[in-house]
Amino acid sequence: MTTTRTIGARKRIAVVAHDHKKADLTEWAIFNKTTLAKHELIATGTTGKMLEESLDRPVKKLLSGPLGGDQQIGSMIAQGEIDVMIFFWDPMEAQPHDSDVKALLRLGVAWNIPMACDRSTADFLMTSPFMHKEYDVTIPDYNSYLSRNIKTETV
Ligand code: PGA
Repeated sequence: MTTTRTIGARKRIAVVAHDHKKADLTEWAIFNKTTLAKHELIATGTTGKMLEESLDRPVKKLLSGPLGGDQQIGSMIAQGEIDVMIFFWDPMEAQPHDSDVKALLRLGVAWNIPMACDRSTADFLMTSPFMHKEYDVTIPDYNSYLSRNIKTETV
């Protein structure tokens, strides 16, 4: 069983980049500036600051990723407040907040968020016709999970 969530033409895009991926992210953002101008940007602290400077526009800045920003984005995804995620995580360096990174990726998939983790996929995503119109995201109907039987008796 599935259910759907309609995302609007104007998307709420979450953006996160690890330190060694921030230069890539800036390059990508400038390359896609015209498309990004039509959407709302939400980012972890440092990434958001860099985006504001390179795009010369306001970005909603959360806490820095390792200080809780990744978890704030995860929470927004679970509450249906994020439509697209661009997450340039670093495959070559261990992160102090590795568990948060994993949790964020998991929630992105659990809620079927269009998500790009590298520059090419992020370019493909930005050039999708769905970026400019409504789109019905199919999500698993988690009701059966919520109404699952849990044994409460103690032996
Ligand atoms: P930052 O966080 O944008 O505050 O650097 C990114 C991250 O490591 O999650």
